[in-house]
Amino acid sequence: MHYVASIVDITDYKIAEEKIIKLAFYDQLTGLANRRKLMDNLNRSIAMCNRENKQFAVLMIDLDRFKAINDTLGHLAGDELLKQVATRISLCLRDTDTLARMGGDEFIILLEGISRQEDAARVATEIVEDLSAPFKLTQSDAVRIGASIGIAIYPQHGTTSELLLNNSDTALYQAKDNGRGCFSYFPEDLTIPVPQHLKSEARLRYGIENGELRVFYQAQIDVKTNEIIGAEALVRWLDPNEGLILPNTFIPLAEEAGFITKIGEWVLREVCRQGKEWIDAGFTPIRLAVNVSSLQFEQDNILSSIETILKETDYPAEYLELELTESSLMENHELVVDILTHLRALGIHLAIVDFGTGYSSLAYLKRFPLDVLKIDKSFIDDISHNTDDMAITEAIISMGQTLGFKVLAEGVETIEQLNFLKLKQCDIFQGYIHSKPIPSDEFVKLLHYKVVTD
Ligand code: C2E
Ligand code: MG
Repeated sequence: MHYVASIVDITDYKIAEEKIIKLAFYDQLTGLANRRKLMDNLNRSIAMCNRENKQFAVLMIDLDRFKAINDTLGHLAGDELLKQVATRISLCLRDTDTLARMGGDEFIILLEGISRQEDAARVATEIVEDLSAPFKLTQSDAVRIGASIGIAIYPQHGTTSELLLNNSDTALYQAKDNGRGCFSYFPEDLTIPVPQHLKSEARLRYGIENGELRVFYQAQIDVKTNEIIGAEALVRWLDPNEGLILPNTFIPLAEEAGFITKIGEWVLREVCRQGKEWIDAGFTPIRLAVNVSSLQFEQDNILSSIETILKETDYPAEYLELELTESSLMENHELVVDILTHLRALGIHLAIVDFGTGYSSLAYLKRFPLDVLKIDKSFIDDISHNTDDMAITEAIISMGQTLGFKVLAEGVETIEQLNFLKLKQCDIFQGYIHSKPIPSDEFVKLLHYKVVTD
C-alpha cells in the first residue's frame, strides 16, 4: 500500500570517482595515460595478440634538448611544450593506440594491431618529422626540439611488458647514438636505415648548435683599379667526420626544414663581428656581402633582426651588402619594397643576384631600391665562345648602369672573360681568377692597412 522512495543524488560520487580514475591512470599535465594505465593496456595487448597470433609495437620517445629549454625558459614553458608535444604525437595515432607519458620528457606509444614492422617505422618517421617543426610558446619565441625513438615489436623483441619496455629503451639509446632525430629497432640487426634527409637534417641542426658553421670570404675587385673593394661571405659547414660541406648541399635542406633563418642570422652576426674586428685592427673597410634566402623575407621580424645585429656588433651599416634573389623580390611585392626601403635608409647596400635567370626585367627591377646587379656565372662562363651570352652580358652591363646600378660579374675564371668585362666597362668582378672563397684568417692577408693621414 505504501511506497517509500529514497532518492540519492549520485552526481557528486560520479564526479569524485572520475577524478580518482583520472588521478590513478592519467598524467596530470598532459591528460595522457600514465605508467599504470600503460602497463594495464600492454598486458591486455599481450593477452589478445597471443590469442589471435598478432603483433604490436612499443615506441619509446625521448625529446632532444627538452632539458635545455626547461632550464633556460623555465618550467612553465617546459610544461606548455610537453602539452603541445602530446597533442602532436596524438595526431599521428589512431584511437586504438595508447600514448602514455612516463614522467619527464619520456613518452611511450603502444601501437596496436600492426601488420608489418614497417608500419611502426612509418609512424616513427611521421612523429620525428612532426616534432621537428617549431613550437610556438606563449612567453617566448618559437622553439625547436627533436625526438629520438626506440622500437620493440611483440613478440619478436620480448613477450612480457617488462622485456618490451627494456628493449625499446635499448633501441632508444642506439637511436641516440646514431644521431639525434632518429629511430631504431631492437635488436641492432633489425635497425632499418633512417631516411637520409632526416638523418642529415638532424646532423645539421646539431652541427649548427655545436658551432660547426664557418664563414669564408671571396674578394670582389674593382675592374678599373684592380683593388679589393668588397667580399662575399659564403657559409660552410665543417663536419668533424666529413670535413667541409658546401652550402649547395645544406642550404636547401635548411630551407626545407625551416631553419634557414637561424643560419642566416648566425652568418650575418658572424660577418658583422668579423668586419668590425678588421676595421678596429686598422684595415681599410670594405663592403661585406651576405646572401639572404627568400624564405627569410617570410619571417616577421627580418628588419628588426638585422638592426639588432648591427647594433650589437657595432658594424657600420654602409659596409654591409645584402644579396637578394629574384624570387625574394617577386613574392610579396609591397611588403618587400617596404622592407628594402627601410634597409636602404639604414645605409645598407642591396644587390640582386641570379639576374637574367628568372623573369625580372630591368624595368621591373627599377621599382626596388637596389644598388648592385650581379650577373649570373652562367652568362660569364660562355663569354669568348658564345656570342649570345656576350651580347646579353654587354646589354646587362650597359642597361644596368643606365638605370643607376653598379654591375658585378661573378664566377670569372679566365683572362678572356676578364678582358671582355674590362672592355665593356663592368664595375666589379669576383671569381677564381683572383681568389676562391677562403677562411677569414687567410682573407685578412689580402687586406691593406688604412693609410693614416692627419
Ligand atoms: P652564390 O651566392 O652565387 O655564390 C657564388 C658561388 O660560386 C660560391 O659557391 C663560390 O664559391 C662560387 N664561385 C665563385 N667564384 C667562382 C668561380 O670563378 N668559378 C666557380 N666554378 N665557382 C665560383 P658556394 O660558396 O659553394 O655557394 C653556393 C651558394 O650557396 C651561393 O651561391 C649562395 O646561393 C648559397 N650560400 C652561400 N652562403 C650562404 C648563406 O650564408 N646564406 C644563404 N642563404 N645562402 C648561402
Ligand atoms: Mg651570392
